[in-house]
Amino acid sequence: SHIAMAAYSIALLPGDGIGPECMDATRIVLDQLVQEFSGLDLSFKSHRAGAELFRESGETLPDQVLAECLAADAVLLSAIGLPDVRYPDGTEVQPTMMVGLRRALNVHSAVRPVKLYPGAPCALKETGPGIDFIIIRENLEGLFASFGGGAKVGNEVATDTLVVTRKGTSQVSDFAFRLAQRRSGRPSDGKKMVTCVDKANVFRSMAFFREVFFDAAKAYPQIDANAVYVDAMSLYMVQNPWDFDVLVMENQFGDILSDLGAGLVGGLGLGPSAEMGEENGLFQPSHGTAPQLAGRNAANPMATILSAAMMLDWLGDKHSDPVCHDASIVLEGAVAKVLADGKIQTRDVGGTSSTTEVAQAIAQALSHCT
Ligand code: ATP
Ligand code: MG
Repeated sequence: SHIAMAAYSIALLPGDGIGPECMDATRIVLDQLVQEFSGLDLSFKSHRAGAELFRESGETLPDQVLAECLAADAVLLSAIGLPDVRYPDGTEVQPTMMVGLRRALNVHSAVRPVKLYPGAPCALKETGPGIDFIIIRENLEGLFASFGGGAKVGNEVATDTLVVTRKGTSQVSDFAFRLAQRRSGRPSDGKKMVTCVDKANVFRSMAFFREVFFDAAKAYPQIDANAVYVDAMSLYMVQNPWDFDVLVMENQFGDILSDLGAGLVGGLGLGPSAEMGEENGLFQPSHGTAPQLAGRNAANPMATILSAAMMLDWLGDKHSDPVCHDASIVLEGAVAKVLADGKIQTRDVGGTSSTTEVAQAIAQALSHCT
């Protein structure tokens, strides 16, 4: 029987470069998903934002588009920015726009799963008991607090400012422990563990981050809380990634380690991300606009599609809606199935298929997963 449910309104920002192609592919898959699930009702509204828009109009994110993003149930963004579209001071428009959007949506925690799917080209020869951990990046402060006032540029010296607050750090730490509670633990022995990644031995701000992290840990005595320096973590991620469950870290460290994580498990074309706060969610692949690849129907749409699966999971949590949860699992399963089959793949994961062909294969796989 059909259960009537409110439609979730999704604001789509296709953006620049390979962004629109990845978004079109994702729409093919989501439209099919809605067909498969009675009771799943998604409505989409697409908006222009980003570098191409800036080139035409001098604006990256018009007020009205931001208002639409705030009013929507979730925002799905593909990729924003082009290297040759810059402000008069020479900086690219993308970071400023993204920092503004994140602040407006108040999405304080960014989640980047580092998960090795069968069929994905792993960078490691040995994969032990498997790779499946989560990077949580503090998303609003750290070194990125420098945007909008913390940077000084002179002729001889330029400085940025790194800001760590008790509120921001306890928010993201608490988020990490709540996520660890729901996961099955690290692959090596199933132990639930949250690791603070920092540079507490060198920087006062980082020592403070670690201190606030361990304060937050007190509320979760059943989860192992520990801390690792970021330089050591870069080594461990390559040598024994299966010994980690959930990692939480400052903004810039998260930016860097999530690319390392994506590299471990098959590249940027497979890496989704989810940015969440108490009210809003912003979902996007961890890759950029890859301008050399744009317009060739060759980009891997899986990262954007997996980001849409994370969006459904988050909507399911927020609205206590089991249909969204089920749809999320099926969607991720369909991507995993196409990857494992290995027949329809884009070039970055070793195939010759187009973006559209991969989307169609995933859409088809949905019916086998329901
Ligand atoms: P940003 O500054 O926005 O992070 P970037 O300059 O770091 O962007 P990306 O746009 O993420 O770089 O892409 C880096 C390279 O990774 C691209 O040149 C491309 O080869 C590859 N790449 C990224 N995304 C994809 C994708 N979806 N499919 C295939 N290859 C991709
Ligand atoms: Mg990058």
